[in-house]
Amino acid sequence: MTKVLIIGGGHAGANTAFALRKDGFDGEITIISNEGYLPYHRPPLSKDFLKQNIAIEKLCFKSADFYEKQKISINLNTQIDSIDLESNLTITKDASFNFDYLVFATGASPRLLPMENADSKNLFYLRQITDVLSMHQQITPEKEIVLIGGGYIGLEVASAMIELGLKVTILEAEERILQRVTSPEVSQFYNDYHSKKGVRIICNAKVTNLNAENQMINSVSLESDESLAADIVLVGIGAIPNTQLAASIGLECDNGIKTDQYCRTSIPNILAVGDCTSSFNSLYNKELRLESVPNALAQSKVASSSILGNELFNNEIPWFWSDQYDLKLQMAGLSSGYDECHIIGDTDSAEFIACYGKEGYLIALDSVNQSRQFMLFKKALGNGFKLEMSLIKDKNFQPESIFSGSN
Ligand SMILES: Cc1cc2nc3c(=O)[nH]c(=O)nc-3n(C[C@H](O)[C@H](O)[C@H](O)COP(=O)(O)OP(=O)(O)OC[C@H]3O[C@@H](n4cnc5c(N)ncnc54)[C@H](O)[C@@H]3O)c2cc1C
Repeated sequence: MTKVLIIGGGHAGANTAFALRKDGFDGEITIISNEGYLPYHRPPLSKDFLKQNIAIEKLCFKSADFYEKQKISINLNTQIDSIDLESNLTITKDASFNFDYLVFATGASPRLLPMENADSKNLFYLRQITDVLSMHQQITPEKEIVLIGGGYIGLEVASAMIELGLKVTILEAEERILQRVTSPEVSQFYNDYHSKKGVRIICNAKVTNLNAENQMINSVSLESDESLAADIVLVGIGAIPNTQLAASIGLECDNGIKTDQYCRTSIPNILAVGDCTSSFNSLYNKELRLESVPNALAQSKVASSSILGNELFNNEIPWFWSDQYDLKLQMAGLSSGYDECHIIGDTDSAEFIACYGKEGYLIALDSVNQSRQFMLFKKALGNGFKLEMSLIKDKNFQPESIFSGSN
């Protein structure tokens, strides 16, 4: 009987197992996860779960029963430390598991702050349920929280903390928040929105010291000589793909485990999916490393298809969402290199779409509270439609017309 072994029980790993069963695979499936919980949704960790609005059980994709019925064997609290390629064995500290196909779904880990006192008891990173559980113990209204990093995680946590009554400061090293992922227009909108809610945002902020006593940080010093009182510090400065194990068996890695459009690595019976990959996307004709649930889900289907000898390939349009306060941000496409930005709608009413064009055509968009229209644009981009910016900029343009052919 063919054996598929999946290292990592996150979005990509669990969904590869689900896809295999759905596609009719009747061999053995084993998931090895070094976490202590059944595979769960990670996005709520910086949103509703952080606010204690949902219980742990509600985070899980499926109950233990489901795995049993689907004959998906799942080993929690188990870390694969090494792999013996000669005998197709993965090795943990006290067991070994063999495989015919191996799937790397090892995800990513928070980039650590290389600074003295960064191991203090009130400094957190956000990746796993356990991170949030330890943070919960310290969250109480009126406390001062300093968020290092003004990316998605920092901003989502800021919104949750404001709702819980804490005093929030965001320290962003670049000149604007969300600099890596969006345009100045959208950064400005988020900057203003958070500021109105009471968040203090300091850009160009270089942290020089975490000042601590008894392993508890009490203030954060900046290069500008300012010192900020801190009861809690959260660091959200990006994530690094977990590729060490893959590299140790000679898999090609470059900012992620390299795969082709079928999620196959440089070794024939080994595949890789999700945040740990730098995977060839045929829509863009290049390798992309994406950290998003839609990417993990799309790649799981592709990996399942490859194991079954079918030919589904990765041509999913990159897309992502982020929830802050009452704002739903949805982004599709890759905006890097855009040469014009046109806003449809009104930033003042927090309902708008920023359309990014290059050489006259739409390449990407960021939508705030415009989900229905966003889905139409996303579908068009995903289908490879070439939408002219001149059309989009026409004040009579209706996104609905993209598929009705009325423009
Ligand atoms: C706080 C937070 C909020 C997010 N919000 C959003 C959002 O709003 N929208 C969105 O699209 N995406 C969001 N993301 C990103 C999204 O969650 C990830 O893209 C997704 O989880 C990737 O799935 P994955 O399976 O590749 O990796 P992961 O979910 O990280 O799973 C990898 C698993 O493998 C385990 N593992 C690693 N090495 C080993 C080993 N050697 N042995 C055993 N197990 C191992 C890891 O511990 C982990 O459990 C968010 C992420 C975080 C952290």
